[in-house]
Amino acid sequence: MGLRVAIIGAGMGGLACAAALKAQGADVSVYEQATQFKRIGAGIQMTPNAVKALRGLGLENALREVAFEAELGHNRVASSGEITNVIELGARIVERCNAPLLTLHRGDLHSVLLSGVPQEIIRMNHRLVSYKQQGDVVQLFFGNGVEVEADLVIAADGVHSLIREQMLGPEAPRFTGRVAYRATFPASLIGELKIDDRCKWWGADRHIVIYYTTRTRSEIYFVTSTPEPDYNLESWSTKGDLGELRAAYADFHPTVRGVLEACPEVHKWALVVREPLPRWHEGCVALLGDACHPMTPYMAQGAASAIEDAVILSRCLKGVARAAIGNALTRYHATRFPRATAIQQTSAQNNWMKEKTDFDWVYGHDVWSEDLA
Ligand SMILES: Cc1cc2nc3c(=O)[nH]c(=O)nc-3n(C[C@H](O)[C@H](O)[C@H](O)COP(=O)(O)OP(=O)(O)OC[C@H]3O[C@@H](n4cnc5c(N)ncnc54)[C@H](O)[C@@H]3O)c2cc1C
Repeated sequence: MGLRVAIIGAGMGGLACAAALKAQGADVSVYEQATQFKRIGAGIQMTPNAVKALRGLGLENALREVAFEAELGHNRVASSGEITNVIELGARIVERCNAPLLTLHRGDLHSVLLSGVPQEIIRMNHRLVSYKQQGDVVQLFFGNGVEVEADLVIAADGVHSLIREQMLGPEAPRFTGRVAYRATFPASLIGELKIDDRCKWWGADRHIVIYYTTRTRSEIYFVTSTPEPDYNLESWSTKGDLGELRAAYADFHPTVRGVLEACPEVHKWALVVREPLPRWHEGCVALLGDACHPMTPYMAQGAASAIEDAVILSRCLKGVARAAIGNALTRYHATRFPRATAIQQTSAQNNWMKEKTDFDWVYGHDVWSEDLA
């Protein structure tokens, strides 16, 4: 029998990890606190490195079916619309990086990832409340009273990870003083207004990214980074006020203002980060994705990095017996830490692609052929 693996969290990283480990014969269960999956109004970019990671899980075609593939990626000055950098996407990025750059609804990406995992291994309404390592077995305790044992536990439980807290001590993520307003809505609402397929509009202290999320350009998404240092963190995901949002972008180009005028409702998220962690694993418990390297969304690499973690972790665990799990996790950390940290730190600078940028080290990377540490 394969290793008994418990994955905590059925988000982007947890599902990718379940698919990768299941494919190599592990006995995988995924525990998710939510009672059902909700389709929140958000888009997501899958850059070529992420698409290659998903290709190896057999999910590229499903992804392409629902996603939009832009020909160009624009960067513009917020007020004038002057172009500061254009990236050739479409066939050109495929030639250069061996995969497309796709944009889609976050809920559709989640559905694609779900399709890669047998549904019966996902246990909804299981909120982990604590764990205990006993010899070479890990005991998991859930809020609904269920107790489970596993040989290996993978914490894909996001930026507020309970497992990270138990492993490394309580420490809230740091609020950046900025919020992301996000909305998806029918493109028909902007009427005759012409927008780029994908554009980041750079203001002095704020920005907005706008792109299509469906193959047919039927849906638009925008996401901002807006200074709001007094934002009440208690409600870290909530409805945003459209009046406040429009006022914050009143001196942006008419195209941006037109998109914000057309938007029927908006949500807002506090943008939180952590410094690189000293450790990602202990005994037979490993952290993955936002649980170990939450980052600003300015390079669109958070989910991509979680998916890359999943692939590398599965490669490190391939053919590994129980006694060798510790070594495999050390290898996983040694392979992933430098790249994840470099991306986390580059993202924090928030100048990615503003001007001509060397992106091959991010987009050209292929986690399936990378040498393991
Ligand atoms: C505004 C914004 C825009 C972004 N845009 C992009 C983008 O374009 N491209 C990109 O690659 N990334 C993007 N990201 C980042 C991306 O959303 C995250 O990095 C990614 O979702 C992390 O995946 P994860 O699996 O680690 O965590 P999550 O997707 O957060 O999943 C964690 C899961 O664990 C569950 N969970 C938590 N605690 C428990 C518990 N105790 N017990 C059981 N289950 C639990 C949660 O319910 C959730 O389902 C963006 C982020 C933001 C904020």
